[in-house]
Amino acid sequence: MTIFIAIYITVIGLLFGSFFNVVGLRVPVGESVVHPPSRCGSCGTRLGAKDMIPVLSYMFSRGTCRHCGVGFSPVYPLFEAVTGLLFLWMYLRFGLTGAAVLGIVLASLCVIVTVADLKYMRIPNKVLLFFAPILIALRFAFMDAAWWHYVLGGIFGGGLILLVVLLSKGGMGMGDVKLFALCGLILGIGPAILAFMLACAFGTVVGVMLIVFKIVQRKQPVPFGPWLALGTLIAYLYGTQIIGGYLSLIG
Ligand SMILES: [Zn+2]
Repeated sequence: MTIFIAIYITVIGLLFGSFFNVVGLRVPVGESVVHPPSRCGSCGTRLGAKDMIPVLSYMFSRGTCRHCGVGFSPVYPLFEAVTGLLFLWMYLRFGLTGAAVLGIVLASLCVIVTVADLKYMRIPNKVLLFFAPILIALRFAFMDAAWWHYVLGGIFGGGLILLVVLLSKGGMGMGDVKLFALCGLILGIGPAILAFMLACAFGTVVGVMLIVFKIVQRKQPVPFGPWLALGTLIAYLYGTQIIGGYLSLIG
């Protein structure tokens, strides 16, 4: 039975991932997510149902338009696959529980934010405002610590990034502040601190690599939202174990 639920949740994730690409690419520039239907960016041919099967369509068409042969970005199937895997991961980690539902909604926010921030260097308010009430309601419905852990996490998350924004004058923006206030609230104070440390570590390592390999200029701003999203998901999935392991090492 578990295997059928796992496959089912993965397929749902792949389909949602396809939609999250659209949301992440259209909402920041004020476009509707339902209209117009997806088209080839080069020849304008409307994509049919068989062009929009997550991951598979891309593989069978070798990532090109069936009409004009122009290449599609591998970012689409990549984020479809990532969403499917994240949905599956939440189920494997938490089973059929409230924590898995909350994790799946949190992963959805993280995927959309990553797509939008990588493409436009912007985390759209509309997306945050859509997810905030759902995430907060689920969090307080399925608490596994006292309520103030989560409130503190939210204050820490938003406050810390706000401090970075004020001190650094650039790099991070108010979108990151709002995003991490929300993520901190969902994680609770301990995992929120871990998520921030992970985000800084990933951001620094990858940032240095991008400069060393001359993919970006030294002064060029790099979006930080994707690292906050990645740190948040790791902390949500394994925060308790990582923090517990660390405390037992120093204790
Ligand atoms: Zn085309």
